[in-house]
Amino acid sequence: MMEITSRTQVVGVFADPVEHTLSPPMQNAAFGAMGIPYAYVPWHVKAADLPAAVEAVRALSLAGVNVTIPHKVAVMGLLDEIAPIARLIGAVNTIENRSGRLIGHNTDAPGFLRSLTEEAGVEPASQHVLILGAGGAARAIAVQMVLAGARLVTVANRTESKAAELCRHLQDVAGSELSGNRFTQLSSVPLDAQDPEFQAAVATADILINTTAVGMYPKHDVPPLVPADLLRPKLLVCDIVYTPQRTTLLKAAEQAGCRTLPGLGMLAYQGAIAIEIWTGRKAPVAVMKEALLGALKQRDPGV
Ligand code: NAP
Repeated sequence: MMEITSRTQVVGVFADPVEHTLSPPMQNAAFGAMGIPYAYVPWHVKAADLPAAVEAVRALSLAGVNVTIPHKVAVMGLLDEIAPIARLIGAVNTIENRSGRLIGHNTDAPGFLRSLTEEAGVEPASQHVLILGAGGAARAIAVQMVLAGARLVTVANRTESKAAELCRHLQDVAGSELSGNRFTQLSSVPLDAQDPEFQAAVATADILINTTAVGMYPKHDVPPLVPADLLRPKLLVCDIVYTPQRTTLLKAAEQAGCRTLPGLGMLAYQGAIAIEIWTGRKAPVAVMKEALLGALKQRDPGV
């Protein structure tokens, strides 16, 4: 831990609850490795106190903060500006304090993209991306996949109406200036291994991304949403669940000969991008992943 002095820049996370956050060990390890005087602290902020907490970012001249559950949407109304991608996603997880002007960013979506391109070496452009889930994380990733020029994005969700609703939103994203006028086709299917439309989507997908909490610790020993017999070696299987690191879906995918991408990378890269926004310097992702692994092992030795 670096010495705290009058030069220390305080950053941190607003969350409720805040006990489970892995960001402090990850971000403080990064600042230590970068040798810069920053300290990252967890703040327990209740919904009713969010406006005052955001105002404190200005009053205390904090470089910025992260915001997480349950504040990612509510915080948008309290900021001076929302970055275009965060606006399309409809959620902010990082606030940048630019001389008193508060700007909202979403680093989850580019965090996933960087994990995909830098760790798996795969570009989504011209690919068929199948997303399991239609919640907040699915929305962020789906918007990013459209902006990155995927040929087809299929959303599969247990509650079908939510998948269809997300696809309607993605249609607008595909038609927006930010997409660079690259045309992405969109479809929604039921998240049901017995459904022929779902089976056809798995059969033609290049990249499959689980964004549901299925497989997450402690209820991690469950059958994956995609049975092993539907998986083909050509498929890249990503799971954004990071406890356990190798989920039952990833294990089944490995056995079927698929390449796999665990969720820890997305978590590290979303933090790295936040640091890059606050400091203007490249963050040490390898150090951050190591710190995350250490914190996870300390919390749940069995994971
Ligand atoms: P959310 O908004 O609550 O969405 C949950 C999604 O999971 C919904 O689509 C829901 O389907 C689906 N789901 C839940 N239980 C299911 C089940 N038993 N069978 C099938 N579908 C089920 O949650 P979120 O914020 O998107 O987060 C989802 C997961 O992503 C969490 O595990 C979270 O930890 C992880 N995550 C990881 C990172 C990272 O950095 N790696 C970042 C963000 C989130 P319905 O619509 O039918 O309910």
